[in-house]
Amino acid sequence: MTYRLPKNCLLTVSKDLLPWFEANARELPWRLNRDPYAVWVSECMLQQTRVETVIPYFLRWMACFPTVKALAAADQQQVLKCWEGLGYYARARNLHAASKQVVALFGGELPSQVDELSRLKGVGPYTVAAILSLAFGKSYAVLDGNVERVLTRLCAISDDIRKPQVKKDLQNLATRFLATHPPAQLNEAVMELGATVCTPRNPQCDCCPLASICRAHKRGEVSLFPYKSKKPKIPTVQVGAGVVWRDEHTFLIAQRNESGMLGGMWEFPGGKIEKNESIEACIARELEEELGLKVEVGDELIKVKHTYTHFHLRMGVHHCRWQGDEPEAIDCADFRWVTLAECEAYPFSRADLKVLEALASQ
Ligand code: SF4
Repeated sequence: MTYRLPKNCLLTVSKDLLPWFEANARELPWRLNRDPYAVWVSECMLQQTRVETVIPYFLRWMACFPTVKALAAADQQQVLKCWEGLGYYARARNLHAASKQVVALFGGELPSQVDELSRLKGVGPYTVAAILSLAFGKSYAVLDGNVERVLTRLCAISDDIRKPQVKKDLQNLATRFLATHPPAQLNEAVMELGATVCTPRNPQCDCCPLASICRAHKRGEVSLFPYKSKKPKIPTVQVGAGVVWRDEHTFLIAQRNESGMLGGMWEFPGGKIEKNESIEACIARELEEELGLKVEVGDELIKVKHTYTHFHLRMGVHHCRWQGDEPEAIDCADFRWVTLAECEAYPFSRADLKVLEALASQ
């Protein structure tokens, strides 16, 4: 379907939206200049994550890895540590791998052509559009959640935005819209409007620069847009994990295999509880399968709840007594005996950071 922009849209954009953006744009660290690397890093961090959360991560990242070459030369553990707590760790691993490609293929400078950017690991159509538009000023529309919300309200589009065809039609609309004005400026103006004025709840239509042409606002139906069908329920996964103590201060941590979820991160070893299995039996079995260790499973330290995109995690963590065998990395990438203070040097997921907090407060 071809969606249509409201009448006078282009005039209102020049007369009201762009001046509003110039006067109201937030000062965000990645907007200080149009450095393609900074745009790339910020766009990777901002996917599914709030601006306020990203700012300190972005500043820390740019201080640690100020250029593509610096990132390419870094150790993966340093990279994951810098991303620790931000979630979606594949993005950090992909950024790191892609930085090596940029050095090898393009001498450390991000290219400005679609086909070249698309060759980079983890750089999909959204990131390509963001880099080309925001860093190189090319006519590519960046359709993020904020832009989707503004467009569906502006044009009163009631189709389900979860449907791939609707996304495609919205992308076409955004592309046509964008072609009318300098791309970076209009892209960012619409993103900013969605983030600060046309918010999911309680949008401030009274002070919106697009209010005079916005169809949803005119109809008094803003809350109906965008329409998103309900997500299917995600499963709950029950997991058991152990803190294996070698002595009063030293315990065991394991590194997850490179392939798969949270690859390269460190954790308290454990795994899924099988049907009709007790948590104690699960921990004992997992430690033997993963590390060849026999342990005596003791009291519970903490129950951790965490939600990932595709499942809810419920993890019971128990203290374990080591029986004296040396561990082997059978089904993990590596292991270490560490003290709590030494854990600072290793990247952990949010769920395992909660276990460390529990240990610290004992
Ligand atoms: S008028 Fe309201 S609904 Fe329409 S774009 Fe502005 S804030 Fe969003």
